[in-house]
Amino acid sequence: MNIVNLHDKNLYYIGGVVRDELLGKESFDIDVTYVGNASDYAKTIENAEIIQVNDAFGTVRILLEGQEVDIASTRSETYPQKGHLPVVENIGCSLKDDVLRRDFTINALAKSTLTGEITDYVGGLQDIKNKVLRVLHDESFIDDPTRIVRGLKFAVRFGFDYDEHTKKLQQDYLRNINYDMSYKRLKKELEETFNLNSDKAFETFINNGIYKLFTQHNFVLPKIKISEIIDEYKPSCVWIIYVGLLSGVEVLPLTKREKKIVSDYRMIKDKTFMSDMEIYHAFCGLNLESILMYAFVNDKVQVIKRYLDYLSKIRLSVTGQDIFSLGIEPSEKYQECFDFILCEKFKNPALDKMQEIELVKKFFEII
Ligand code: ATP
Ligand code: MG
Repeated sequence: MNIVNLHDKNLYYIGGVVRDELLGKESFDIDVTYVGNASDYAKTIENAEIIQVNDAFGTVRILLEGQEVDIASTRSETYPQKGHLPVVENIGCSLKDDVLRRDFTINALAKSTLTGEITDYVGGLQDIKNKVLRVLHDESFIDDPTRIVRGLKFAVRFGFDYDEHTKKLQQDYLRNINYDMSYKRLKKELEETFNLNSDKAFETFINNGIYKLFTQHNFVLPKIKISEIIDEYKPSCVWIIYVGLLSGVEVLPLTKREKKIVSDYRMIKDKTFMSDMEIYHAFCGLNLESILMYAFVNDKVQVIKRYLDYLSKIRLSVTGQDIFSLGIEPSEKYQECFDFILCEKFKNPALDKMQEIELVKKFFEII
């Protein structure tokens, strides 16, 4: 691994990037940390332009050979307010103290940018080998319950499992949740986890009671595979299809679009339909995500398929202008007329514009 062209005895690759290399996986972001003051170090790098400095966190962004690199100073953290952002304690602390603030042992490995040697203070190498997720101390989930969702994400992404003690710590926490937590951070982790589109993740989320982090309402797992429907229809927002099925999701800071997806889903979820027209009217104008969510209540896959694969593709050629041209004054009858033609078109999608106009005439009894 030689992802950043920087080599210094105090500079380490750290966290996910080291883990991913050991697992033979590609990393999305590269974290490097400097034992000491990163911004002082940045000033000494030849040909580097300093773009941004954050003194409170001890981080610095540089431009080097056309590449932006974030360098963090080693830092220790405490959680005076459990479940909220930590407070930075000591910028420029030892590598060991920096490592000890992290979530799982597999994310607590450091690799020297100078020698390539890996420093492992917490047994992360062994845990990677054994496919184990282990927190670094017993207060870990109390300090930051979003780690429970991070754990789920890594378990699914890498096929790892919690060690017995970590499992127990999670159960203990989920039995005694402190709801005064940062839902912004929780949402970010839920998003990353459920965007993986994994039924297994959802099963674990429900069966292990992880959903209790944001809602008290129980939930029954759908019988059908959510991931297959998502793969087939490729909605843009995957995570909300899973998490939005649970009542109480609104406590998360949802975007306007996510809110609409959930509220539209709630509106249609208990409906049953007697005709194509009813299906069409219920789904027309809704986001794809809300429609897909409907499939998972009482196994309604066939209904959404009927809509998405057939009904939604049917278009009328006749316009309001065409009706007006026949000498009919605009009124709510126009909509009834469109529905009448649509209904015919559901039965016979091959109808052309001339035939549609004939149907308009029939509707208004002008033939
Ligand atoms: P990904 O591949 O999803 O980016 P990652 O492990 O790199 O996984 P990041 O969110 O990029 O995760 O965080 C980088 C590192 O910061 C982690 O490897 C971990 O050491 C530490 N970290 C991140 N979030 C937390 C947290 N909530 N608690 C403790 N340490 C954390
Ligand atoms: Mg990362």
